[in-house]
Formats: sequence, structure tokens, C-alpha cells
Amino acid sequence: MAAVIFTDYSSSTAAAAAAVARLLPSSRYRFGDGVLHSRQSLLLHFAPRNPIMLRTTATSCASASPSVVTASMVAETSAKVIDGKSIAKQIRDEITVEISRMKDTVGVVPGLAVILVGDRKDSATYVRNKKKACESVGINSYEVNLPEDSTEQEVLKHISGFNDDPTVHGILVQLPLPSHMNEQNILNSVCIEKDVDGFHPLNIGRLAMRGREPLFVSCTPKGCIELLHRYGVEIKGRRAVVIGRSNIVGTPAALLLQREDATVSVVHSRTKNPEEITRQADIIIAAVGQANMVRGNWIKPGAVVIDVGINAVEDAKSAKGYRLVGDVCYEEACKIASAITPVPGGVGPMTIAMLLSNTLSSAKRIHNFK
Ligand code: NDP
Repeated sequence: MAAVIFTDYSSSTAAAAAAVARLLPSSRYRFGDGVLHSRQSLLLHFAPRNPIMLRTTATSCASASPSVVTASMVAETSAKVIDGKSIAKQIRDEITVEISRMKDTVGVVPGLAVILVGDRKDSATYVRNKKKACESVGINSYEVNLPEDSTEQEVLKHISGFNDDPTVHGILVQLPLPSHMNEQNILNSVCIEKDVDGFHPLNIGRLAMRGREPLFVSCTPKGCIELLHRYGVEIKGRRAVVIGRSNIVGTPAALLLQREDATVSVVHSRTKNPEEITRQADIIIAAVGQANMVRGNWIKPGAVVIDVGINAVEDAKSAKGYRLVGDVCYEEACKIASAITPVPGGVGPMTIAMLLSNTLSSAKRIHNFK
């Protein structure tokens, strides 16, 4: 669904910023941090404050942050792009090789069962994509499509069948479920050994406990950490901020970072001064669902930014009339961060790659295949 984005714009603050830039004698300046700053980057970080509801074009970020950034936070860099698409492809290739080795050695092919209830187009697309991804690596996929008015009992019956089916190693219930169903009951009924989505409370509980190992970690946060690993980003001892605390992304992402010995803060909708907290972080994972919320002046120079958000914003230049952006204002953040995931092409492709990886791990564990 296309969304309209409005930009906060203040002639007074923008004029002040322009005036500051005009007062400065050359086009590049060195501040307390010893970093060279351009006039352009300085202007960028004097965020305009008073709203005059201006509709954005495709290229600008959403409303400006009300906080004023100090000059020491402004660095003119160009972040390395963390290419989730190519890493996901690499992982899928590795999975394909492993599945073929398993088939040749023990004659087992991993199987993933997907249950879709109702006729939401977006859910049908996700399920289709998952099925295609399974086929591409050699995983057998099984699909059950139930009508919107199915009962909870019917869904539970199918889950129970898949729980007992030895050819199925992973079970996924496509969310959201129709409102008359109890999501918790349904997710709890997936046996923990086949919970490839990692949504079962036992898996999340084990993730939260020291000395316990979850059988599965939910795919999106696992994908975020995998990106950090594959790009050689050190996590141990670093400060990390996760923005968002949902059960499926924010909370498990924070738990994973903590397990890797980061010092983690979680920012949510009731957090006061989220910018200040985020600015402390060496690693930022943003999973909010608010287009371009994290501005350049929220980011510590050199931080690594993983943007989970997928938001549609109006874009007259696009044939679809909209385009997808993250929770982080990319064009600002890429000048400050040392590395950043794009949207699309960052975390998104990793989510499906991790689902395939979890399904393979499940089959290996069940068949004791090393
Ligand atoms: P949820 O809506 O479940 O959670 C959003 C979280 O963000 C909540 O914890 C909420 O806080 C917090 N939040 C909302 N507004 C603010 C705010 N203004 N300031 C600080 N925190 C805020 O979303 P999800 O976790 O499911 O998804 C987050 C984003 O990630 C979405 O854009 C979604 O589309 C995307 N996504 C992408 C995936 C991928 O594969 N790339 C997979 C899954 C999700 P509170 O708890 O206080 O309400």
C-alpha cells in the first residue's frame, strides 16, 4: 500500500543552517573529532524543525529530527553497502551443496510445510516466494491453503499431521492469521523440533537464557547477525542498539547480540530521547516499521547499520506509484555509518535464506547427519 510522506521543514532553522555555512570560510571544516566536514554535510545535520507539511519526492527522507546534532557527529564518509542479496545467494548455494550431500549420503531430502489461512494477497506472495526458494535449493515443500473462515481446530489438525510426518522437518504458519483464531495457541502447537520460524515460546525462552540453546532462531534477526558475521563486524564488547522490540524481530535481535557479548539497549515507542541512545551505538539494528525514522544525526560516525524496516512511500517516478524504504534514512546514514544495509536488498533476502538454513539444520538434527 502506498503511503504519503510529509517532510517537516522550517524556513527559520534551514536559514540558520545556511547562515552558519555561509559564515564558515571554506568548504571543509575540522572540528573536535579531527574529521573533515563539508558544508553540505553540515547543512544536512541542522535539522529543520517546524512542520509545513511538504509532500516529499522519492529521494528525500521523512520528517526531520527535532534534535540538533553537534558538529563532532558529522563525518563525510561513504558507507560500505552490506549486500544482503549476494550474501543470501552465497548461503543458498551452500545449502544446495549440503542438501545434495545429505541426499547422497543418507537418502533424506529436507521438507518444509507451509500453512496459509485466508486469501491475503501479500501472504500468498510470501508463501509462493518461500516455495520457490525451497525448490531452488532442493527442499521439498508442502502447502496447505485453508479458507478464511476455517476453524482453529482445522489449522491445529494440519499442524498435528505435519508434526507426525517424518518427511516434514519444518512447519511454518503464515502470519497474520484471521482474527477469530488464537495465534498463540496455533504457534504453540508446532512441535519445537520443527519450529523453523523460531516463534515457539520455548525457543524464544531458551534464546533468552544463558547456558541454553534454542533449536531455532527466528529468521530475520538471525539474518541480521549473519550479515554482521559475514562482513567481519566485531560484536563482542561493542555497544548495540536495537530499535523495536517485537517478538519476531527486535527482541530476538537484542537477545542474539547479547549472546554475542555486545552491550545492548532496546529503543521502543515509549523511549525518551531515542536519538541520544542510538548515537551511542557501534551497531544499530532498526526494526520499527516507520519510514526513514532514523536520521543521519542519530548515528555515531563509523557505526554499522542494519535496517530491517520495509515501508512503502509514495513515488510518482515509479511505475507502481510507490517505492520501498527502510526505517533508516539511507541517504543521510550512508554518509555517517561505516557500513549499512540497503532496502530493498539488505535484510529481506536473508530472511528466506535463514528459513532454508533452519529447515536444513532441522533435517540434519532429526537424522543425526553431520
Ligand atoms: P512491529 O510493529 O511488530 O514492532 C515495531 C516495534 O517498533 C515495536 O516494538 C514498537 O514499539 C517500535 N516502534 C514503533 N514506533 C516507534 C517509534 N516511533 N520509536 C521507537 N520505536 C517504535 O514490527 P516488526 O518487528 O514486525 O517489523 C518491523 C519492521 O521490519 C517493519 O517495517 C516490517 O515490515 C519489517 N520486517 C522486515 C522483515 C524482513 O525480512 N526484512 C521481516 C519482518 C519485518 P512498542 O513495542 O513500544 O510498540
